[in-house]
Amino acid sequence: MAILVPGGAGYIGSHTVDRLIEKGFDVVVVDNLATGHLESVNDKAKFYRGDIRDKEFLNDVFDKEDIDGVIHFAANSIVPESMEKPLKYFDNNTGGMITLLEVMRDHDVKCIVFSSTAATYGEPESIPVKETDSQVPTNPYGESKLMMEKMMKWADVAYGIKFTALRYFNVGGAKMDGSIGEDHSPETHLIPIILQVAQGTRDKLQIFGNDYPTKDGTNVRDYVHVMDLADAHILAMNRLLKGGDSQAFNLGSSTGFSNREMLETARKVTGKEIPAEDAPRRPGDPSTLVADSTKAREVLGWKPQHDNVADIIASAWKWTQKHPNGYEEED
Ligand code: UDP
Repeated sequence: MAILVPGGAGYIGSHTVDRLIEKGFDVVVVDNLATGHLESVNDKAKFYRGDIRDKEFLNDVFDKEDIDGVIHFAANSIVPESMEKPLKYFDNNTGGMITLLEVMRDHDVKCIVFSSTAATYGEPESIPVKETDSQVPTNPYGESKLMMEKMMKWADVAYGIKFTALRYFNVGGAKMDGSIGEDHSPETHLIPIILQVAQGTRDKLQIFGNDYPTKDGTNVRDYVHVMDLADAHILAMNRLLKGGDSQAFNLGSSTGFSNREMLETARKVTGKEIPAEDAPRRPGDPSTLVADSTKAREVLGWKPQHDNVADIIASAWKWTQKHPNGYEEED
């Protein structure tokens, strides 16, 4: 009995694998290491290097392992890149899901927890965003994930594969001991970029857009600690394994922080100056994204432990200080 984690060498995947192992699950990771890091995968997990679009490879993993459920992270996730290379996103993300669901169907695996995103909502119709709100993505990344949600819905109708779509808002932080953390190349996310400036490996932060209809003109986002997010996946998997039905849940803190507030908090947490300048808007960015996460708390029993951005930034800072060049130095 094992949980398969495609994309388990990525940022959120590796933290979830770590937590699954801590909770006593057998874990099988599949990752093509296009963006993930082998060093981030807990060495108690079984690791297969390969691409989920490679049906022969994936069939082989399902043949060899006794898989009960899948927690699926394997996807590209960078909004600006998706604006420039939309087909890469439909190929890897949406295409990958087709193969994964086919192989699950053929091996009679009936549970999937899926790493979805607030980007499926696009520019929200109201704040905070509810699961029942309309989903009109403003970028190909969000569109590719919405298509994946829809595929799972129809795979449930036809094959009885039950899914949980977890729509993340913004994720940050690292395992509390700083042993694993966030490392993308190139880095595009706000918290790691701010911390690269704090540690002196990047000159300055560019704040994208200062004329949004928000409290200080900069985008507002809702940040969740990566370990809290990991816990939500395990709660969702346990619920499906016990016969739970297909559902979607928002995962956020229900509190919005502007990019400028994030910068100020990071200055306080790190004690560093962190030079910053205003820059043009980044294409595809919705103005404000804040979640209503009541459903996850009520139905999954999710209780985030780190619900303030200073904690999130502090744990990311610990990781950054321990690993100034990310995982690179360990390659
Ligand atoms: N952002 C920024 N400067 C950067 C990186 C990000 O101003 O160098 C802003 C970005 O425009 C957005 C917020 O930070 O408003 C969060 O962006 P991120 O890429 O971290 O996550 P996203 O919201 O796209 O999932």
